[in-house]
Amino acid sequence: MKQKVALITGSNRGIGLAVAKSLLAHGHKVVITARKEMEAQKAQLSLKNLGDVYCTTLDVSDVKSILDCRNYVEDQFGKLDILVNNAGINYDTWQTTLSADLEEVRQTFDTNVFGAWKVIQEFVPLMKDSSHANIVNVSSGAGALSSMSCNTPGYSMSKAALNVMTIQFSKELRPYNIVVNAVCPGWVRTDMGGDGAPRSPEEGAETIVWASELEDRNITGKFFRDKKEIEW
Ligand code: NDP
Repeated sequence: MKQKVALITGSNRGIGLAVAKSLLAHGHKVVITARKEMEAQKAQLSLKNLGDVYCTTLDVSDVKSILDCRNYVEDQFGKLDILVNNAGINYDTWQTTLSADLEEVRQTFDTNVFGAWKVIQEFVPLMKDSSHANIVNVSSGAGALSSMSCNTPGYSMSKAALNVMTIQFSKELRPYNIVVNAVCPGWVRTDMGGDGAPRSPEEGAETIVWASELEDRNITGKFFRDKKEIEW
């Protein structure tokens, strides 16, 4: 497979780190990003024996940080082939819609929705020349309207919005051959998923990596889990 340049948001731990590991194992150049420089460097060091790994800081809720990261990638590689919008937060577990702290909901949207949105806006210009550019938005079954429950309202709504964004960007970016899909990783043992989750981060990363390497330009604007399309 052709070597690609991949960037993963929030890749210092959890699913993002596992995605980075797998993309490196597939021979791609991988840019690890983290909010804290030390965390980014620590993750880079932990993966350096696997391949061509780079690191830089990125806080997706901070526009300047996104622009700095975009400039880093442009200077270093002049292009981007794979963008994985993985960074996410879930503050409002077990709150109800009626009792939700709207400031926490707002922060959740800032990261899970507006963060991913701004990252796509800024990185698309670096992806337009790639004949095989893929964007993967790491979503959740919690955001599926077809099976919506209401015990994590801010998080669920943010992932539902991310799903809508996936469809809209997929249509807008078709003329540039940029494929945009959403993936639910399943319930995964990370800081967010907790110790009781059945899947390892590597298992959670599997479909995300698969979607990030899709060659077929017609598979776009879809929602996947376990490499199968699921309902929005
Ligand atoms: P973790 O909490 O383990 O990791 C979250 C990552 O996102 C960390 O690297 C964190 O960085 C980063 N992050 C948070 N806020 C920002 C920000 N503003 N800018 C940049 N990075 C940020 O979560 P998971 O690995 O479990 O989750 C990864 C993705 O998978 C999320 O989008 C989540 O919603 C989704 N998901 C997870 C499921 C699960 O069961 N675990 C199920 C379904 C979906 P830092 O270390 O600085 O906090």
